[in-house]
Amino acid sequence: MKNYIDQAEQYLLHTYNRYPIIWERGEGVYLYDLTGKRYLDFVSGIGVFALGYGDSAYNDALKEQIDKITHTSNYYYNLPAIEAARRLAESSGMDRVFFTNSGAEAVEGAIKAARKYAYLKDGRTDHEMIALNRSFHGRTMGALSVTGTPKYREAFEPMIGHIRFADMNDFDSILAGVTDATCAVLIETVQGEGGIYPAEEGFLKQVQKLCEERDILLILDEIQCGMGRTGTMFAWQRFGVKPDIMTTAKALGGGVPVGAFLMTEKVAEQSLTAGDHGSTYGGNPLAAAAVNKVLELFAKKDILRHVNEVAPRLEAGLDAVVQQHSYAVSRRGSGLLQGLECRGPVGGIIEKALEKGLVLINAGPNVIRFIPPLVVTAAQIEDMLSLLNQCFTDEESL
Ligand SMILES: *Cc1c(COP(=O)(O)O)cnc(C)c1O
Repeated sequence: MKNYIDQAEQYLLHTYNRYPIIWERGEGVYLYDLTGKRYLDFVSGIGVFALGYGDSAYNDALKEQIDKITHTSNYYYNLPAIEAARRLAESSGMDRVFFTNSGAEAVEGAIKAARKYAYLKDGRTDHEMIALNRSFHGRTMGALSVTGTPKYREAFEPMIGHIRFADMNDFDSILAGVTDATCAVLIETVQGEGGIYPAEEGFLKQVQKLCEERDILLILDEIQCGMGRTGTMFAWQRFGVKPDIMTTAKALGGGVPVGAFLMTEKVAEQSLTAGDHGSTYGGNPLAAAAVNKVLELFAKKDILRHVNEVAPRLEAGLDAVVQQHSYAVSRRGSGLLQGLECRGPVGGIIEKALEKGLVLINAGPNVIRFIPPLVVTAAQIEDMLSLLNQCFTDEESL
């Protein structure tokens, strides 16, 4: 592997501190590196492989689509995109879909839709948005502008501007940011990259009520926490709230790059129209066939029920780690998106886990994130916990 990794370091831009592993293939909840070593995977490509690796129905659907056609222009219709949009609208309760190629692009589209909605209402061109500290919405300039981690933004200033930051689960801080120019409040229903901070029901309800009263749009970013991750198809669905605009990506295509932003009819009727937004690839037949099959398999395999069955075991096991190991401080999360906050950096534990054949990733410097394929079994959760406990024991004996 060393030879290839040297080549990678020579030719690829150094924007990632990569682990010295080259993945070759996957099977279910397991990954294999180039040397044939098997790993239990609790990262799933950061929440992408919800159905696990190598699902034959999914793979066959993609192969079939490749043999038909992989790309048309969005100036024409294609059947997979029509089907995928219908399934996505049905599973979310949203009315209209725009397919993108990534999460960041879905956020860009959501920002544009919100600004256009407000513009059509009052003609102003100085609209503001409220976003949250610790949030992550992507790396493009618009998505970066609403990302609540200053270190991601600083070198790339100026941002798009007119963004005010508030705190998760602190309604007063939202209220303090509202002005007569506010067009939207943007919230990750469960903050992922920022350290796994779930929104509370009461907070979301208060924000939604405020938004309704002031005709401000509520945008929920479900790119990481959506698609069954927390035990409902989208994380907001358990709270009795509904966004005006929602973003999704990551698990949406199960491994094919695709995202989407969705909106209610109210917003669709008064925001983006022909010529306002577009994408060459967005929702192309290959990506849409993937979305279509992923959503079909979610229903067929009853993924939501499975998540609700196994997630309590993960929570209890992580709580036990907190009890047993002084380096672990607390657990936070929802369903199969969990974070274990530690007393210090978690890089050492993640490296030990990799040595033992367990793939984990952090969410911020001090939090280990658990985001396995949603098909993970209770037995695989036990295996993970046993390896994790060994890693903590090793770390604490240093
Ligand atoms: C990953 C992520 C994004 C960005 O998605 P990309 O596909 O990497 O552009 C945006 N929002 C959230 C919540 C994410 O987790």
